[in-house]
Order: sequence, then structure tokens, then C-alpha cells
Amino acid sequence: MIHCDGLVKIYKSSDLEVVALQGLDLRVEDGELMAIIGSSGSGKSTLLNMLGGLDRPSAGKLFVDGKDMLTMSDRQLIRYKRESVGFVWQNNARNLIPYLTAQENIELPVLLKGRRKKARALELLEAVGLQHRRHNRLSELSGGEQQRVAIAIALANQPRLLLADEPTGSLDSKTASQVLDLFRRLNREMGLTIVIVTHDPQLARKVDRVVAIRDGRTSSEMIRTQTDADEEEISFNAQGQAEQA
Ligand code: ADP
Ligand code: MG
Repeated sequence: MIHCDGLVKIYKSSDLEVVALQGLDLRVEDGELMAIIGSSGSGKSTLLNMLGGLDRPSAGKLFVDGKDMLTMSDRQLIRYKRESVGFVWQNNARNLIPYLTAQENIELPVLLKGRRKKARALELLEAVGLQHRRHNRLSELSGGEQQRVAIAIALANQPRLLLADEPTGSLDSKTASQVLDLFRRLNREMGLTIVIVTHDPQLARKVDRVVAIRDGRTSSEMIRTQTDADEEEISFNAQGQAEQA
């Protein structure tokens, strides 16, 4: 799904250059649920924006779902964003409309996409486990429920790839854990490839694989293929490579 080699992103302004990514390598398989961790300023959001086609890399190779993100035309890029990818942000709920119900909030983007809005909105509400709250105004929902509405909207275009930037950043740890469980269910049931950016190592334990970014590079990789119940112990060797005990 994602194939990235020596990816470079440099932000340029008149008097300043910021090298946000300096030769980052990453592979993500189709159907994987993975997390990217790293401290603030390490380049996580920059990477996610490149993956989602919100911004273009400066150099290197980046293929997402077979598409070359460096040479793609602007038109193809717009189409890619509209059809292939869903986005969830930390403050997504801010873009929702507080005095409309959960269902109406979902119907809006569905309507814009020209689908049968009501049936589709109900499907999406069910996918995120919010059928029972559909007639509640958004302002009556908890932070976690609002984030689930945002996730439902991100799924409206039936993306193959879901990108989430600190999706639980403003939630308490129990609610955050529930939102993570939802990602996990969507991954298992719909086969959706999901990349979650987080700085919370606890949440990162809930996914199949964790990649750490440091100073715009993938610094080490932890590979887990097992469930929460019997996780393998992970340690790092001198080169920062993950080792399984
Ligand atoms: P993270 O999400 O891991 O906190 P970011 O990807 O947001 O990190 O930022 C990586 C680096 O790039 C930081 O030094 C940040 O200040 C810089 N940066 C991010 N976006 C821009 C931008 N639009 N213009 C200039 N510099 C930026
Ligand atoms: Mg960020």
C-alpha cells in the first residue's frame, strides 16, 4: 500500500529552510494497522500529509496504492484525495456542526458525494457503533463519540487507506483506548489499511506494528504480529534495531 524510499521534505520560506524529512524509508502492507510514533517535531504530520496527498515531497520515492506521489498531476492528486484516502485529525470534531445531529453531520458530506445519503449515513453510523446516538445533536455527544462521527465521515468515500494524525490526542486514556479499538475493528472487518500517528506509546501497543520516527527518519522498527493477550517483549539493540525477546 505504501512504499517510501529516501523521502525528503524541505519547507522553504524566504529566509529559512526546514528539513522535516531527511531520507525516510517505510513500507506498509495492504490491510495493515500500524502506528507511527515520535516526539513533537520529528516529522510525523509531515509524513502523513505526504501520504494523504495534502502536500508534495521534495525528493525521494513515494508510492501509495500504486500511485507515484512525486510525479502525479495536480488533477490526479485531487482525485486521489477524494477517492482513495480518509483523514482523521485530533480536532476533527471542530469541523463538525454542533447543533446538527450525529446523523445529519454524516449526511452532509455523503450528500455532497451524491450518494443515497440516509442509507449511507446509517451504514456509517453502524460501522462506528453510534446508531443509538444518531438523533442526538453533536453538542450532546462525548468527545469520544464526536471523534467516532469524524471517523464515520472519513469512511464516507470508502477509502482504501485511513490516515489518522493524533486521533486520540484530546481524549482521556479510556476513551482513547476505545477509539483505538474501533480502528482495530475497521481494520479487521473492512480490511482497511490504517496508519495512526501518535506520541503515546501505550496506544501504539494496540496495533500490528509500530514505526518510530526521529528527526525525519525511521529510527527503529518494532514488529509485532500478535494480539494484546500475548505480546512479545521488544527491546532495542545498539543500532536501534528492534529485537524480539
Ligand atoms: P510532528 O507532527 O512529528 O510534530 P511535523 O511534521 O509537524 O512534526 O514537523 C516537522 C518539522 O517541520 C518541524 O520542525 C516543524 O516545525 C516543521 N514544519 C512543519 N510544517 C511546516 C510548514 N508548513 N512550514 C515550515 N516548517 C514546517
Ligand atoms: Mg504532528
